[in-house]
Amino acid sequence: MWPISYRELIPYYEKAEATLPVQFAPLAPKEELFFYGAKKAGWSLIPTLDVVSPGYRPHPNAILPPNPHLMDPNYSMDQLYEMEGCTMKGNCINGCTAGPTVDRIAKRGTLVSYIPLALKTGNVAIRPNSFTIKILTEHDPKEGLRATGVQFRDTWTGEIGELSAKAVVMAAGCIESPRLWINSGLPHNAWVGRGLTIHYFDWVSGIFDEKDLTNILGIPFVDPFVGATSGGRVDIPGLGSTQVSGLSPGLHSFLTYGFSDAGYNALNPPEPGAPWNIRGRVVGPELKELMMNYRRTMSMLILADDETLYHNRVTVDPLLKDEHGPIPVVYYKPSAKTLQRRDQLAKYSAEILQKAGAKTIIRSDSPAGWLLHIESTMRMGHVVDTNCEAMQVKRLFIADNSVHYNGIGGPNPTLTTQALATRTSEKLAEAYFSG
Ligand SMILES: Cc1cc2nc3c(=O)[nH]c(=O)nc-3n(C[C@H](O)[C@H](O)[C@H](O)COP(=O)(O)OP(=O)(O)OC[C@H]3O[C@@H](n4cnc5c(N)ncnc54)[C@H](O)[C@@H]3O)c2cc1C
Ligand code: SF4
Repeated sequence: MWPISYRELIPYYEKAEATLPVQFAPLAPKEELFFYGAKKAGWSLIPTLDVVSPGYRPHPNAILPPNPHLMDPNYSMDQLYEMEGCTMKGNCINGCTAGPTVDRIAKRGTLVSYIPLALKTGNVAIRPNSFTIKILTEHDPKEGLRATGVQFRDTWTGEIGELSAKAVVMAAGCIESPRLWINSGLPHNAWVGRGLTIHYFDWVSGIFDEKDLTNILGIPFVDPFVGATSGGRVDIPGLGSTQVSGLSPGLHSFLTYGFSDAGYNALNPPEPGAPWNIRGRVVGPELKELMMNYRRTMSMLILADDETLYHNRVTVDPLLKDEHGPIPVVYYKPSAKTLQRRDQLAKYSAEILQKAGAKTIIRSDSPAGWLLHIESTMRMGHVVDTNCEAMQVKRLFIADNSVHYNGIGGPNPTLTTQALATRTSEKLAEAYFSG
């Protein structure tokens, strides 16, 4: 159980959603086909944003609505890219550039949303090419050990500098935050770097006939490269999520045919009765055949709720260093429960694809090595308190995924981090800046 309640976080989720802004993603053919399959597979529509029971739903994204001139032949692609609004070009994961100015780019990453807003206050300075190598501290008679600033290295010149501060916020991510803690010589805490979770993901794809697609969608293609990465999902509290997903052609093909822990499908075909026809990597004529059907392929990304285990961790190497000190080492081994959840979600995904009419189903069996959603290496209640202030170092706050108590059940984690960071900034201001 998280040390703070979901209810406590709701106003901060709402604030983050309004700031980005978050709204329902525009739907492309892949979403339409997914909703058709999910319904046929017996899942009911979740009519609320507060998910407490299993079902499918369109999901909101931090992406501006499509450019209204998208289908207007008077505008070229180049012009559309300079205008406001999503172009549905499906390049989200590689980096969105559609928009007239940096702060109006369609996909609302931190760089184009919070950073321009912070700069507008006039109270923020950005120091590029600076890598923090040490959290500076002192002993205060009243407060005990407290943070007083940072030491940083200029990655271009190699010069070392120091900044002093009334409070320090560490947001270096789940790998670098524990590394920085350890390399700074901050007090030993048995949970620093421990309890790492990932949403051990998998990728299940279905290939459809032209005729079936025309009957369902009115067109003979799914075109997985059109539109935002994902606009629909099935959530199953206790297991995780599976979401319809499309990526740029290279990434999509890599995940579908070439990224697997199961070896080559031809050498190790699926067991009889398995809900997929192919499991693992595909090569040769079989690959050519599948790739010819690429435009009629729909894929689902599985995000399994991961168990929080002490042995999954980030530590630092005792010998190897880079220019910023001992390097981090990541150790992850999924538990039997995590594997079971992932398998069950893969079966549900295959069923949705099959009900939608897929004739061939491919389960990639993706390796754990691509750590997609890392969380909980500096857990609330263990390393930081409920205000996200370090329990052993006053005035040191943490505001990244690492403070999550666990893998939050499987949903994509960033909005929770942003909501929590919004709350942390309030707590910090109240504690050290007279509100
Ligand atoms: C392929 C992919 C797809 C994803 N898609 C989604 C999605 O659809 N939805 C979602 O919610 N999440 C998604 N995520 C996860 C999302 O990227 C993370 O949840 C989020 O970025 C984590 O934020 P963070 O602040 O913890 O860490 P980061 O975003 O990693 O930020 C840490 C920052 O600190 C900097 N840094 C590190 N060490 C130092 C140092 N010592 N000094 C100075 N700076 C330092 C790093 O350069 C980095 O900019 C995806 C991740 C991947 C890899
Ligand atoms: S589809 Fe993705 S990359 Fe393309 S404009 Fe929309 S948000 Fe940006």
